[in-house]
Amino acid sequence: MTADIDDSDLFFQSTIRAAGPQRDDSQKIEALLKRMTLEEKVGQMTQLAIGMVAAGQDQTIQIDSAKLEKALGRYGVGSILNVHEQALTPDKWHEIIGQIQTAAKKTRLGIPVIYGIDSIHGANYVQGSTLFPQEIGMAATWNPELMKRGSEITAMETRAAGIPWSFSPVLDIGRQPVWPRFYETFGEDPYLAKVMGAAFVRGLEGTDVSSQDHVAASLKHYMGYSLPLNGRDRTPAWIPENYLREYFLPTFDAAVKTGAHTVMVNSAEINGIPGHVNPHILNDILRDELGFKGLVVSDWEDIKKLVTVWHVAANEKDATRMAVMAGVDMSMVPLDYSFADHLLALAKEGAVPQSRIDEATRRILKVKFELGLFENPMPNPALKSKIGLAESRRAALQAAQESMTLLKNTGDILPLARNRKILVTGPTADSLISLNNGWTYVWQGSEESLYPKDRLTIRRAIEAKAGAANVTYIPGTKITRREGSPSNGTPTNIETEVDISAAVQAARDADVVVLCLGEGSYTETPGNIPDLSIGEPQRKLAEAIEATGKPVVLVLAEGRPRIINGIADHANAVLMAYNPGNEGGQAVADVLFGDFNPCGKLPFTYPRFPNGLMTYDHKAFETESFDNAGFTPQFEFGEGLSYTKFSYKDLRVDRQTIGTGDPLSVSVTLTNSGSRAGKEVVQLYLSDLVASLSPAGKRLKRFAKIYLEPGQSRTLTFRLRPEDLSFIGANNKPLIEPGEFEVTIAGLKERFVLK
Ligand code: BGC
Repeated sequence: MTADIDDSDLFFQSTIRAAGPQRDDSQKIEALLKRMTLEEKVGQMTQLAIGMVAAGQDQTIQIDSAKLEKALGRYGVGSILNVHEQALTPDKWHEIIGQIQTAAKKTRLGIPVIYGIDSIHGANYVQGSTLFPQEIGMAATWNPELMKRGSEITAMETRAAGIPWSFSPVLDIGRQPVWPRFYETFGEDPYLAKVMGAAFVRGLEGTDVSSQDHVAASLKHYMGYSLPLNGRDRTPAWIPENYLREYFLPTFDAAVKTGAHTVMVNSAEINGIPGHVNPHILNDILRDELGFKGLVVSDWEDIKKLVTVWHVAANEKDATRMAVMAGVDMSMVPLDYSFADHLLALAKEGAVPQSRIDEATRRILKVKFELGLFENPMPNPALKSKIGLAESRRAALQAAQESMTLLKNTGDILPLARNRKILVTGPTADSLISLNNGWTYVWQGSEESLYPKDRLTIRRAIEAKAGAANVTYIPGTKITRREGSPSNGTPTNIETEVDISAAVQAARDADVVVLCLGEGSYTETPGNIPDLSIGEPQRKLAEAIEATGKPVVLVLAEGRPRIINGIADHANAVLMAYNPGNEGGQAVADVLFGDFNPCGKLPFTYPRFPNGLMTYDHKAFETESFDNAGFTPQFEFGEGLSYTKFSYKDLRVDRQTIGTGDPLSVSVTLTNSGSRAGKEVVQLYLSDLVASLSPAGKRLKRFAKIYLEPGQSRTLTFRLRPEDLSFIGANNKPLIEPGEFEVTIAGLKERFVLK
């Protein structure tokens, strides 16, 4: 038996501390600033989409020298972003970025451009890159070390393409599962998301962001974007400040402490104030409280939206003034020169003081210096060979495997024997699109032709294990896309029946059915849906298959918890795959056939009903007062089965009474009492039994992922710090109140008193 472990807190603390020595470029920056004209400063604050300097479609995209001259020569644009339509080859990226930086060098002051891109689950806009599970799947691994490894690879491959800046991670908290960007979050819990988010940032930025293996992170979308009242993207949220601080700020706070270089603003509004005109959030909290020193970039076209969507400004010029004065340093304009023109006029009129322009420019130059762009602006051809390495792919497979979350396994139907007759059915069974979701080669992830031909869908991976002769595949239903606005209530992904009766017939002839349900790909507004329920055709398929009485293994490839109540209740096994990336088909099959022992845990509460949206850390009274207010989710946060059995005993707190400011040790003994080696996620929850603001029933405070051989035991000791007992009070400040607390680990409970 061993005591003490690397728990989430030790990892987190080391992640935060690992930021390298700060370099001081202030003299160079001030000297440069002195030489810059107002126009050049305003240009630095301007970010344009690649289409503004290029021409041509898809892979034939070319830099257009006249457009580039206008952007860099005339406007002195500081930043360019994104892909035009689709992922480019490393060679193409080098060509484009090389030409941009060459032109930048020829400008009067030779300031390099900072190119930015959405590397969301890998360098997903670089052909041949390594794709990881989306953040929701990474959260399900509860393995921050693996998160860090994944984002190191993402950084390496992004920088290898010549791009030094990624618009990730998403640090929004996923507490509204209808929201189409739910899968881009680390789920509903602020603590889990904080630990994983800090790991993501450290992996991206490393300890020296100027090194050729790292990129600057962008913490987004600051803040409160993820809780739209109606679940639709970029719509209003109402979040009182104490809850904003309790649930939505901790991830950003932690990531700022890691030294992250940039922050992207919430495109929507909270409490009637659009993110881009909220100086309280952008200045008082981000700068004064958290001490953020980097640059703040707007989200896409968001200054214009202050006029067209939010109606807080009468015209774009005024919107520009409001956003810049609220703290936006760089505008992702990105499709015209309006921002630069307006800001220049505003500065000349004195409506935006020179000091504010200098401040923003200084921050932008600082990030460029720290990235080493002044010394090394050009893509390095030697780095191209680092894209898509076999060892990177292995890391992505491990992440996909560790994300797999087994939620039901009645009668140990899994793992499957290899010699049985299997029917594979459902719309996600043979689709790399469903395994990846949005931000994959194209914004919506929807271009089948761009996916690598050698990656296995769930169907193909099952065939590889069980032998094609033992596997019948009949889709049953399909998901197709309807482009255009989903705003009339018709979702982008349309489900239709294909051959349900053939699937039912095949089920009768099979020993077991692997029923693959879920979603197509989407993100942002095109992902809006009017109903969280799984599509009607899929429900019909599932019910017909289950009516045959054959054993059913339900596999879910989806970015948010679509309602599956009756279906899951009748299935013998349920495996949640999330959006595991290109290695996901393999990972699903590895779990189904027992070649990998599942160890993922659900990072959100899986609702049973569309209107039953409640997080695990709901108030205690909701479960107890009235029967119909009960907490009866389909699956609980933190749930996830293994093929071995873990048992817990001897939960102890080292003292029954502690004083304010005292640490507390909590220990528990974990035993692998089953017959297979496996990993378990030990989860420590704390309940504040009486508090001046009605407390949550319980909150996650620590976790540790532990590997044990059969028969092996380990005693773990977690150390709680005083701030773990605190909450944000009605005055928006952290409060620690005396009284009784309860610690829970895997159903074992112990109490202690804070004097
Ligand atoms: C999204 C951001 C993204 C940006 C650039 C916006 O529409 O909200 O998350 O970074 O586009 O692609």
